[in-house]
Amino acid sequence: MLVLNIAPVALPHIDLLVMNFKGIFICRPWLFALLPNPPLAMVIFPFILLKDKQLKNFPVLLNHEYIHIKQILELGILPFYILYLLIFYVNWIIYRDRHLAYLNICFEREAYANDTNLDYLSKRGFWAWRNYR
Ligand SMILES: [Zn+2]
Repeated sequence: MLVLNIAPVALPHIDLLVMNFKGIFICRPWLFALLPNPPLAMVIFPFILLKDKQLKNFPVLLNHEYIHIKQILELGILPFYILYLLIFYVNWIIYRDRHLAYLNICFEREAYANDTNLDYLSKRGFWAWRNYR
């Protein structure tokens, strides 16, 4: 009997490369022209959309978006966006205010609480957003 013993191949350098991915910048995306109130920045993985090229000079803003990139890499693209929207709509029912609903999404709470700490991503624990519910 032939037994194939296929163990998962550990490629730590590739894991490290993937987990340190920080997004691809797109400045002044056409999508923002369609929005009545476009944000300064937004992550549509793997892209970081910036309202203006000058925003690349704002480390706190970039750090905020990098935190989202990390959350997405850990959780998976689709689960992240599904959970993000689900929490947003639940919050909207609870707070009856769109902005409050957005600010209280655990992913945003983690990002806003730590975006001024530029070392945060190097020390952050796995699925750290769970601590911001
Ligand atoms: Zn955010």
